Amino acid sequence: MSLSFQLAPEPPLQRSLKTAIGCVGVGLHSGVKSALSLRPAPADTGIVFVREDLPGTAPIPATVGHVADTTRCTQLKGADGAAVNTVEHVMAALAAWGIDNAIITVAGPEVPALDGSARDFGFLIGCAGVVEQDQPRRFVEVLKPVTVHHGDRWARLVPHAAFAVDMTIDFDHPLIGVQHIALPRVDLASFNRELAAARTFGFAEDVVDLRAKGLALGGSLDNAVVVAHDHVLNPGGLRWPDEFVRHKALDAVGDLYLAGPLLGRVEAKGSGHMLHVKLLRELFADPAAWRYADFPEAAATVTRSLPVMAQQGAD
Ligand SMILES: [Zn+2]
Repeated sequence: MSLSFQLAPEPPLQRSLKTAIGCVGVGLHSGVKSALSLRPAPADTGIVFVREDLPGTAPIPATVGHVADTTRCTQLKGADGAAVNTVEHVMAALAAWGIDNAIITVAGPEVPALDGSARDFGFLIGCAGVVEQDQPRRFVEVLKPVTVHHGDRWARLVPHAAFAVDMTIDFDHPLIGVQHIALPRVDLASFNRELAAARTFGFAEDVVDLRAKGLALGGSLDNAVVVAHDHVLNPGGLRWPDEFVRHKALDAVGDLYLAGPLLGRVEAKGSGHMLHVKLLRELFADPAAWRYADFPEAAATVTRSLPVMAQQGAD
């Protein structure tokens, strides 16, 4: 006979940044140079964007209800029409770091592209440091499968003990073809190892057309992979042979963080911002498909794996 003691698990707590930090860069689509800052915010604030160049305009909550457009990037719009474009990569970094509350100021219409991935946003968050707050994290737990389609593309959320991503793309292009990546648990370590540095990409033949539509005006070989008929134009080549599907998975992580922390697996084929947002709307439209969970055991494990104290030794 043996006695064992089980410590009562503690609820995972909300997180914010320890201090403010910023950067300056060009927007991929607008071509407009703007400053961005990531700032601490009190518990229960959520992630909120503020157009610093439009003083007095309403804050723009990073929620699915504020998505106004998903053409090539995810655009959020506030109550008075002030909008911010291309939020998905910074949202992916915030998701990976488990940041629940932050004010993100942008002095322009679009989040800077930086290198076209989420790597630099994650670096900034790591430099700022992370603090735990006094309120429990509130997870959105997927209770039953939800699927959305657009032509032969689809995306699905299924119940899973952690946030997971399973992404497939199929491009009729010799450099891409069918690519697949699955992360059974998207946490800071797996995100940094597998997704964070994967850059956005486009096709050289589309550039003229995109620019005629006012898109990709800031795109360059410094912030996007540009694919020609049988090679990439970037002098350094690809970061992984399957960098394309890794970036699509990164986009899904960022877009789905508009729901807050999720407990569920997103499975998708050929999905993009439009399907990700449609998927969240479909999920929230069915009260039987999800619930808020403050203290799921799986979530406690996820949150505790984040290095909350790692950046706090410098002061
Ligand atoms: Zn992207």
